[in-house]
Amino acid sequence: MKLLTFHRLMGFFASLEEEWDVRLPIRLPDGSRALGSLADGPPSLQGGPLPAKPTALFFPQEEPLFTATDQGMHSPSPPDRPLLVAGLPPRDLACLGFMDRFFSAPPRDDLYFNRRQGALIVGLSGRCGPGGALLPLAGGGCDLEMVLDECGWLLLPYSQEGARVTAELPEGDGEERVARLREEAALLDDSDQRLLRRAAELLRLERVPDSFWAEIGDRCIACTGCNLVCPTCSCFGIKDWRFSEVVERNRLWDSCQLEGFMREASGHNPLGSEALRTRRRIHHKLAADREKWGEISCFLCGRCDAVCPTGIGIVAVMREMVARF
Ligand code: SF4
Ligand code: SF4
Repeated sequence: MKLLTFHRLMGFFASLEEEWDVRLPIRLPDGSRALGSLADGPPSLQGGPLPAKPTALFFPQEEPLFTATDQGMHSPSPPDRPLLVAGLPPRDLACLGFMDRFFSAPPRDDLYFNRRQGALIVGLSGRCGPGGALLPLAGGGCDLEMVLDECGWLLLPYSQEGARVTAELPEGDGEERVARLREEAALLDDSDQRLLRRAAELLRLERVPDSFWAEIGDRCIACTGCNLVCPTCSCFGIKDWRFSEVVERNRLWDSCQLEGFMREASGHNPLGSEALRTRRRIHHKLAADREKWGEISCFLCGRCDAVCPTGIGIVAVMREMVARF
């Protein structure tokens, strides 16, 4: 286990920039937090999950699939330097793990792995949640976990690369400190996890009537915010652009809350109402993905509830569902 004092934090990340394209939570001039580089603002590791989804670094909102000219087709090259992405709380690490499994299923998504392969992931836990709240330790799912307690950062490497980048830092006797945090975390309220399992079970048993989805769907203004912030949303559409003699094919995130999401060329739309689209958004995460991938694909990161202007993020909908059915 390695130790990192508060005043050495900035220097530690700066020392990694030669080898890695370092992205970490930073504070922007307007006071908000975002994933950025050290040149964009001071590190801001405390405060919990960032508003934007970290998986966008590997699956960005828009990216070229290939360009085509008279000379042939060209695929995008991998980045010059691998990414080092720091600052993922345990639930974001779980989301990233899901996306890794999703994009590695045949046919493997080469674009995603162009950026993901070789990337070093640094998780965050301990007393770095919102307002200093305790985030339970991840215990894996990353190369290196940074655990905050009152005295500083404790660094737990889980991979060879995680151990290599921390090799120069002082060793620390932090086992007791970590054990204390684990004990405290075991007492944390896990009612959201129980809610998730109960809501998933209601959907599996088909206990939620269409009238419920009509009611919830009526409240959706199709702003697409829930999909844009969700770290496990992976739907995209394709657009071709032509610039003189070059044609570029791009993929862009799509949203299941938009009317045209599943509309077919014939005009038939299997998701032709807000009720069906809203049902799909929730059902997909809690039931369909569980059936297809063996796991629920919502990891309760909290973003869709924070962003939805009409109060129908997934936790709000699950609460209503469980209370009524
Ligand atoms: S809480 Fe919302 S945004 Fe977060 S993983 Fe679940 S569905 Fe996605
Ligand atoms: S954020 Fe809310 S209002 Fe906007 S599309 Fe999603 S469910 Fe609808």
